[in-house]
Amino acid sequence: MKITSLDTFILHVPVTRRAIADSTHQVTHWAAPGVMLHTDQGITGFGYSGTHAHLPADRLITECIRACFGPLLTGQDPTQVRSLWSKLVHHPPLQWVGRGGITHLALGAIDIALWDIKAKAAGVPLWRLLGGSDQKRIEGYNTDGGWLNWDDQTLVSDCRRLVEVEGFRGVKIKVGSADYRRDLDRVEMVRKTIGFNTRLMVDANGRWDLPTALQAGSRFQQFDVTWFEEPIWYDDVEGHRRLAESIATPLALGEQLYLLDHFRQFITCGAVHYVQPDVTRVAGVTEWWQVAELALAHRLPVVSHIGDMMQVHLHTALAHRSCTMLEYIPWLRSCFQEPATIEDGCFICPKLPGAGTTLREDAIERYGVR
Ligand code: MG
Repeated sequence: MKITSLDTFILHVPVTRRAIADSTHQVTHWAAPGVMLHTDQGITGFGYSGTHAHLPADRLITECIRACFGPLLTGQDPTQVRSLWSKLVHHPPLQWVGRGGITHLALGAIDIALWDIKAKAAGVPLWRLLGGSDQKRIEGYNTDGGWLNWDDQTLVSDCRRLVEVEGFRGVKIKVGSADYRRDLDRVEMVRKTIGFNTRLMVDANGRWDLPTALQAGSRFQQFDVTWFEEPIWYDDVEGHRRLAESIATPLALGEQLYLLDHFRQFITCGAVHYVQPDVTRVAGVTEWWQVAELALAHRLPVVSHIGDMMQVHLHTALAHRSCTMLEYIPWLRSCFQEPATIEDGCFICPKLPGAGTTLREDAIERYGVR
């Protein structure tokens, strides 16, 4: 099989609820700048990155795919994914301008499309190609209910609905307020509402300094918080290590890390407990798997961040033994032929061949931007 050509796309999809914010971002749309790789056997692979819908930045990603990687892909066998990935990630002119950032996001989208082709060529869903089992249960926890810009009443009633009506067994709420005591109050209110049989996670999105994270983090234990996510600036390995040593609540991070090497630094010095790689930020399924194996070797659970909005990560979670849970945010559901779906708090096992990334025919018409 050979790659014959590619097309890029940019989708801007409105978030499904009212305007939302965490401590660092305000989001009205989720974007998927991506690629369709065409082959001489009629199979098309779909892959994409995930952004906050900033069109100039999204265009940089698709232009990098088209102009920088496109000529290196044409004529290649897409089923030799790992070999092709190694060539692309170490291509000297491109690694010179970006071993992380836009170049890496572009490569992530390409790698996902390559795995999509490989699974389609084999006639199986990606989780099966990767050796997974349809008997495995992946628990979904909901992150689309605890936004920092919501008032207390909205926060509490929405978390109650997610647990009592929608059946989620875990919720994550945002923290990182200017006054951390506001967040302690919110955590306490939510814990009282959902009871102690439901997981509760908190996420500061890198906002706090180390003293604030220490003060707030030392109080989360009393509310049985499963993990404290991105407490301080994303790249601060030593700060996270000191925090991890000082508080009882486990730390989670990884959604802002680009490289296996970044994860190695955090993992080997004990600065993270729940490892959260994202296929759309590390360079695709190939590097995600490397990170998951590293986590496994250190007996750490992997709970992916879902920049792909659950499509690829559901497959990798079903296949990798370090995964038992996955974040749930439903913003891109209407874009896919087989959107990830929750039943009784767990994800339904995908059935269609591929990586779950195949777009519906009307997705580009509805959400595409030029
Ligand atoms: Mg997060």
